[in-house]
Amino acid sequence: MSSMIDAPTVEVLAAEGFAGELLRPADPGYEEARRVWNGVIDRRPALIARCLGGADVARAIRLAREADVPATVRGGGHAVAGHAVCDGGILIDLSLMRAARVDQRRRTVRAQGGCLNSDLDRETQSFGLAVTSGVVSHTGIGGLTLGGGIGHLMRKWGLSIDNLVSCDVVTADGRLVVASEEENPELFWGLRGGGGNFGVVTSFEFRLHALGPTILCGMVAWPMDQAPKVLGLVQELAAESPDELGVVAALRLAPPLPMVPAGLHGKPIVAAILTYAGPVEEGEAVLRRVRQFGRPAFDAVAPKPYTAHQRMLDPGAPQGLHYYWKSHELPALTDDMIGIVHEHAARMTSPLSLVPVFMMGGAVSRVPEDATALPNRDAVYNINITAAWQPDDPEPERHVAWVREFHKALEPYGIGVYVNFTSDDTPERIREAAYGPDKWKRLVALKDEWDPTNFFRHNANIPPSE
Ligand SMILES: Cc1cc2nc3c(=O)[nH]c(=O)nc-3n(C[C@H](O)[C@H](O)[C@H](O)COP(=O)(O)OP(=O)(O)OC[C@H]3O[C@@H](n4cnc5c(N)ncnc54)[C@H](O)[C@@H]3O)c2cc1C
Repeated sequence: MSSMIDAPTVEVLAAEGFAGELLRPADPGYEEARRVWNGVIDRRPALIARCLGGADVARAIRLAREADVPATVRGGGHAVAGHAVCDGGILIDLSLMRAARVDQRRRTVRAQGGCLNSDLDRETQSFGLAVTSGVVSHTGIGGLTLGGGIGHLMRKWGLSIDNLVSCDVVTADGRLVVASEEENPELFWGLRGGGGNFGVVTSFEFRLHALGPTILCGMVAWPMDQAPKVLGLVQELAAESPDELGVVAALRLAPPLPMVPAGLHGKPIVAAILTYAGPVEEGEAVLRRVRQFGRPAFDAVAPKPYTAHQRMLDPGAPQGLHYYWKSHELPALTDDMIGIVHEHAARMTSPLSLVPVFMMGGAVSRVPEDATALPNRDAVYNINITAAWQPDDPEPERHVAWVREFHKALEPYGIGVYVNFTSDDTPERIREAAYGPDKWKRLVALKDEWDPTNFFRHNANIPPSE
């Protein structure tokens, strides 16, 4: 298959005015460009087309069609399943498209499809503005937004998709279209949760909100034997807290970070990552309840730049480790569920693994269920059981087994799965748990209209009808 993308073919693409970089396997930079976040993924595309804009994306799509080779789209390369890259195909790489421009008057930002969270946060925070983005700075806004976009600010301002105003899209037949409430509204509905199934989004326009730049935020942690009580507290917070409070609980072995006392490194902890999306003084009063709960092993909550908070978790998710994860959306944290979470987290097989539990609700739950393609607005928690290990680990299977057993034990309680936290989930699970029958029907109709040949299939796939 890869022989179809030979040197003359690449020359034709260049001669047709492709403005970005074209990398074939022997070219300098190819090895680095084919890598994604999950080091388990080791695939070799025939051509990496590093696009500079919509025109390049359209040319790369046309080339893949003419050469009859598969194409993948890379935003930030964070999909754990490695959807951004395949063997022998064309990788449509957006990583040179990372510009963002704030319109202060309209309070919006237009961000190119290859932006990372850090690009979006940096530009918007320069104006004291923000929109929900993910909790690790090097995740791509492309995949993150198209799947929903959960983050520290979501309870106050909703998911990333709830702030989308419009998208510039290159379609499967290489056309450039706009999707918004006014133009192609059904496509706009599908892009908000349906992933990369309908086209390549070359730029996203988001509504912005005033935030910071200094906010009260950071991590408080307790020894892991306190997990049942701390998760019980989180359950109370979900019911009683103002929307300004963001909470991500995390169970893991304490990393050797400066904020963690040396005596705690490598010990099991339960942490609460707290964000107050409002004035610092107001936040002091709200966060006191958590910070004074039990006897924390450390409390690193302080007024900080929001952009620093957005980078705080980066060391826990480095590029290139080997990863495997599975996830559930949960309606509550009952004593039974807390018992399961604690029991399995305490048996973690790798010091690099972690179990984040995102507290949902607030503005996320107030968006009508049918407003976007993203389902399960009533989920109160999102748990992502994440195993990480060194590439030379002689027994990786035990980490994968830990995730699977943990996930299975929670299965009776799960009400769905967030599509961006899927991995090797079956097509049935994508259909039933990530979308459900009603959304699925509407998404398939949209796929029939915009991508009837399933050109965009390296994703949590929504195939067209037969
Ligand atoms: C360390 C880490 C932290 C995370 N934290 C969060 C979080 O806080 N919140 C959250 O919601 N999710 C989070 N995620 C999950 C994340 O949303 C998904 O992994 C998402 O797929 C990442 O998008 P990406 O562009 O980086 O990935 P990629 O692997 O590049 O892309 C993922 C999918 O989206 C498609 N795609 C990407 N960009 C575009 C585009 N511009 N147009 C069309 N299709 C595109 C790709 O083809 C692929 O199918 C995290 C993931 C990791 C690894």
